[in-house]
Amino acid sequence: MSNQRQRALNIVQQRTTDRVFAPSDKISDFFAEEVFTMDKMKATLAPDTFKKVESAIKKGKKIDVETANEVASAVKTWAISKGTTHYTHWFQPLTGATAEKHDSFFDAHKGIEVFKGSELIQQEPDASSFPNGGIRSTFEARGYTAWDPSSPIFIWGRTLCIPTIFVSYTGEALDYKAPLLKAVEAVDKAATKVCQLFDRNVNRVSASLGCEQEYFVVDKALFNARPDLVMAGRTVFGRHPARGQQLDDHYFGAIPSRVYNFMKDFEIECLKLGIPVSTRHNEVAPSQFEVAPIFEDINVATDHNSLMMDVMNRVAERHDLSILFHEKPFAGLNGSGKHNNWSLIASNGVNVFQPSSSARENLQFLTFLVNTVKAIHEYAPLLRASIASAGNDHRLGANEAPPAIMSVFLGSDLNAVLDELENNGNIKIDKGENMYMKLGIDKIPEIILDNTDRNRTSPFAFTGNKFEFRAVGSNQNVAEPMTVLNLIMAKQLKEFYKVVSERIKKGEDKKIAIVNVLREYIKDSKAVRFEGDGYSQEWADEAERRGLPNVKDTPRALDAYVSKTSKHIFEEFGVMSPLELEARNEIQLENYILKIQIEARLISEMSMAQVIPAAINYQNKLIQNARGLGEFGLDNSHIKSILEKVNAQIVTIQKNVTAMNDVRGEINSIEDTRERAIAYCDQIKAAYFDVIRDAVDRLEGLIDDEDWPLLKYREMLFLR
Ligand code: ADP
Ligand code: MG
Repeated sequence: MSNQRQRALNIVQQRTTDRVFAPSDKISDFFAEEVFTMDKMKATLAPDTFKKVESAIKKGKKIDVETANEVASAVKTWAISKGTTHYTHWFQPLTGATAEKHDSFFDAHKGIEVFKGSELIQQEPDASSFPNGGIRSTFEARGYTAWDPSSPIFIWGRTLCIPTIFVSYTGEALDYKAPLLKAVEAVDKAATKVCQLFDRNVNRVSASLGCEQEYFVVDKALFNARPDLVMAGRTVFGRHPARGQQLDDHYFGAIPSRVYNFMKDFEIECLKLGIPVSTRHNEVAPSQFEVAPIFEDINVATDHNSLMMDVMNRVAERHDLSILFHEKPFAGLNGSGKHNNWSLIASNGVNVFQPSSSARENLQFLTFLVNTVKAIHEYAPLLRASIASAGNDHRLGANEAPPAIMSVFLGSDLNAVLDELENNGNIKIDKGENMYMKLGIDKIPEIILDNTDRNRTSPFAFTGNKFEFRAVGSNQNVAEPMTVLNLIMAKQLKEFYKVVSERIKKGEDKKIAIVNVLREYIKDSKAVRFEGDGYSQEWADEAERRGLPNVKDTPRALDAYVSKTSKHIFEEFGVMSPLELEARNEIQLENYILKIQIEARLISEMSMAQVIPAAINYQNKLIQNARGLGEFGLDNSHIKSILEKVNAQIVTIQKNVTAMNDVRGEINSIEDTRERAIAYCDQIKAAYFDVIRDAVDRLEGLIDDEDWPLLKYREMLFLR
């Protein structure tokens, strides 16, 4: 067996695992112990200072220098008491990972630890290495990170981490967080106005988010022995284990103890960091798992998801495991997503997506529900763009994953409510009559409680009291789809409020005006509602008839970001300028090209330097054997037939790899980034990846197992 493969498998055989123990049986004993929480702030700051910080967090007010100095001093004292020596501004640049630049508290000149308010508020990382899509060169602006007080400060890896946004000196956002904060502000404003139609006391609406994170786990030695996993995060080759075997019950059920201990370990670390992970580890595919923290304010939930992914990577090291966050690490098996559970919660405590027993709240519920459906219908291309990535391309529209068509699932009962509302025509409500009853919207809670039909194939589904955006990729920073979702909701709600207000001004009764507008919206957005099997070809055909977009690849999906509509609404709400959108588009296209380029190189190298040599070795064995049989006058035609099969695959691989490399040489000179990305998509990925893979995978099934150079799926996937 190939040395590397054998060595890796030997290492795995020797692995042992230590049991992990929580610091205490009671989670409350250690929950958020590494976080500078509001409680800790309250305990350490002067009451006046605390009030200022609190209002900065709750109302987005600016923090003055003195306040910042006091907070910095309190944070420093707390951090040093916990053995921390360094601090960093923690941010989420467009590279997709989190970034930090560590500075010491220790001031060598003064000989003491210092941490000033200015250092808390602002820092200048060496930003030149972060992608900026040409913004910086255009404006010659440097970037800086700015404290985001709405996300709590924490200690991770003995470093004090200050959540920040990353912007250029000319104000352009260089990260994922800055636009999200603006979109959340926009939806707050628009939703508050709409809520006030129902309850005048509402003064704030906050968006909340709960992410269900899927991931694969493989042994670190096995991971390191597969160049494609190391370089691309996914396997570019690999024959599926015999049908059925991969889904064998044997592999489900008990979580392997090594993975179990890893989970327990990272959950403890997460809890210490205040990330409310709830223990839940259902397996989906072999070696695939899921973790779902309890929902939080969207800004904090976004930071927590990024942080959790970091924590998982680092804790996995301790257990000699590697985490695969890629959307499709193994062909033929389930991909990984990150369901984004999203809702809007008003300051009076009402979740606007919660059907209630109060008829008035139900009209509010319907208002938000219908507006969401309308927003998804209207801005489907933008929503699609927000989840576009080279990794997610493998998942969307492929096996067991939502299609690239944006549709909304409501469940049959809610659909019936909307249908009734639509078909009832213009009901006249006489004085003293119960409008809710007449419209059939007085008994929604009853129906919803019975509603158990859950559609797992929908990219955007209503699940009782929240929407679940399921098409989001497992490796994505959720700030991007959440920016778009909240922005399009803000736009839609603003429009709704305007139209309803105009009707009221003209003398229409408020409730009637609301119902009438909703009725129009229901008609307008009907095409986006779909209850059937989203994975089926029938749906793709039906969606086409309905005129719904179905953009299957990233370079084309990204066009929606730089469309007129997109630029208009991003600018209208101050979330991003056209320039920022153009810059981001450029970054994402470059990123896509890079990913496909790396995979093409891997496919080429692994084919030529690993697979073909192994096939030739095996051929030589066959040739020797055929000769020997011939010498003894025995029939050797069956050996010749294997030889032919092996040879045919070698020829296919060699021919296609050469052709692919030639095409790459040609398209690399395409100036326009979008055109180059499309060329990589159509002329490289679509034209060669599967053809080469198919031949390699066939060889894997032909060649002596001893000679095969790459770890096989069954070896990687079934952890002990
Ligand atoms: P499933 O989708 O598998 O049924 P759950 O019902 O357990 O999963 O919820 C999944 C996620 O949705 C969790 O993170 C949970 O905290 C979150 N969630 C529940 N209610 C809300 C809400 N109102 N807003 C946002 N997220 C929510
Ligand atoms: Mg779910």
